[in-house]
Amino acid sequence: MQTYGCQMNVADSDWLDRSLKSAGFVKTISEEQADFFIINTCSVREKPEQKVYSHLGRLKEFHEKNPSVFACVGGCVAQQVGKGFFERFPYVRLVFGPDGLAMVPGSLQRLENNQHLKISLLDFEDHYPERIENWPDKMPPQAFVNIMQGCDNFCAYCVVPYTRGRQKSRSSEEIIRECSKLISLGVLEITLLGQNVNSYGLDRNGQEINFARLLRKIDGLHGLNRLRFTTSHPKDMSREVIEAFGELETLCSHLHLPLQSGSDNILKNMGRKYNRERYLELVKGLRKANPDITLSTDLIVGFPGETDHDFQQTLDIMNTVGFDSSFSFKYSDRPGVRSSLMTPKISQQVKSERLDILQKLQEEWTAGKLAQRIGGRDQVLIEGPSKKQKSGVWSWQGRDRGGRVVNIDFKTREDFTGRIFEVKFIRSKKHSLEGEVVT
Ligand code: SF4
Repeated sequence: MQTYGCQMNVADSDWLDRSLKSAGFVKTISEEQADFFIINTCSVREKPEQKVYSHLGRLKEFHEKNPSVFACVGGCVAQQVGKGFFERFPYVRLVFGPDGLAMVPGSLQRLENNQHLKISLLDFEDHYPERIENWPDKMPPQAFVNIMQGCDNFCAYCVVPYTRGRQKSRSSEEIIRECSKLISLGVLEITLLGQNVNSYGLDRNGQEINFARLLRKIDGLHGLNRLRFTTSHPKDMSREVIEAFGELETLCSHLHLPLQSGSDNILKNMGRKYNRERYLELVKGLRKANPDITLSTDLIVGFPGETDHDFQQTLDIMNTVGFDSSFSFKYSDRPGVRSSLMTPKISQQVKSERLDILQKLQEEWTAGKLAQRIGGRDQVLIEGPSKKQKSGVWSWQGRDRGGRVVNIDFKTREDFTGRIFEVKFIRSKKHSLEGEVVT
C-alpha cells in the first residue's frame, strides 16, 4: 500500500492496513509477490496527483507478467477521477472515495473471488461512516483519531469539499470510546483529525457537543499524556478553544493555524472569511492563554492576482507572528475549483522566486526560535531511532510538547520508543534540537 497526502490519508491507510491483516490478507515483502496493490491518493496539490499516475504506470509490468494482479485506487484522486481509472488503467479493479473506505476489505474479498469484477465505492454518506475496528494487542505510543470527514468551507482553491464531501462530525461517544481503547492499548499521545476541527459538531444541529467541550472530555481520560489536533480554520477558532491551551493538562502547546496569505485582498479572493487583523487577534489570544505555544502555518504563494504588495503583506505578517515553522506551496489550479477561473495567473518564475524568499525567511525564524530553546527544558516523547546515528552512542528522536523534533544520545542500546523523558536542550540545528536527559 502506498499513501500520498495528509495525515487523514495516513490514518485511513493505517486503518485499512489493520483491517486487511485481520481479514487474513498478508502484506508481501516484495512487489513481485503481491496479488494486488493499493494506492491511497491525494489531490490537494498537483505533484501528488502526477505521482499517482506514474505509480500506476509502473504497476503495468506486474499485471503483464501475471494478468490476475490488479490495483486499487482510493482517496481524493479516486473520488475525482472515479471510474475514469478503469478506462485509463485496465488493471485497476477497485476505486474508493474517503466514504467508501469502510467497505474496502469486503470488496477485496469479492474481487479475489471474481476475476471479472470491478467495484467503485464513490458515494458520499450523510453521516460519518463508522468503521469496524480491529485493534492489535499493543499500539505505538502515538495515534490519530478521526473526529469528522469533509468540509463545508469551499475555499476557492481547495478540492476537499468535492473529494471528501460536506462536513460530517463523528459522534462524540464513538470518538471517546476509540480514545479510551487506544489509551488502554498503550497510546500516550492522540492527535484528533479533521479538515476543520474547530467546526466540529456544528453540522449536527445541536445533537453534538462543540469542539472545546470534546477537547475537555478527552483531556479527562485517565492515562492520556498528550492531546493534539489538526487542522484548524482561523474563522472558526473559538475563545473556548483558545482558553483550553492554558487550561487543559494534556493539550500540547502547539497549534497549526493555516494563514495561507497575509494580504486581505488575497484572503478575500480565497474565500477564507478572516482577515489579517482577525488572525493576529487569534495569535495574541493564544499567546496570552499559553505563552509557550508554538505556532505553525500553511502559506500559498502565487494565488491568481497576487501582487508584489500582497506578497510583501505575507512576509510582514510572518515577521509579526514569528512562526516556528510553516508549510509553503506554489499555487496550482485544481480541476473544478473557483480559483482555476481566476486571473491573472502568476508565472512559474515569479511563484518560484516568491517561494524561495518566503522559505528563506521561514528558515531564519525556525533557526532563531530553536536557538531560543537552548538551556530550556521540556518533556520529550521518544518516537524512534534518530535518522543519523553517531559512533559510540545510540541516538533517539522524539518531540517536545511544542512539537519540536529533539534528538537525544543514550549510552545503552535499550529501545526507548514510547518513553517520556525530562530533557534539557543543549544545541539547536536548522530544524531540530539536541537534548540530554535530566536525571
Ligand atoms: S477549510 Fe481547508 S479543507 Fe475546507 S475548503 Fe478550506 S482549505 Fe479546503
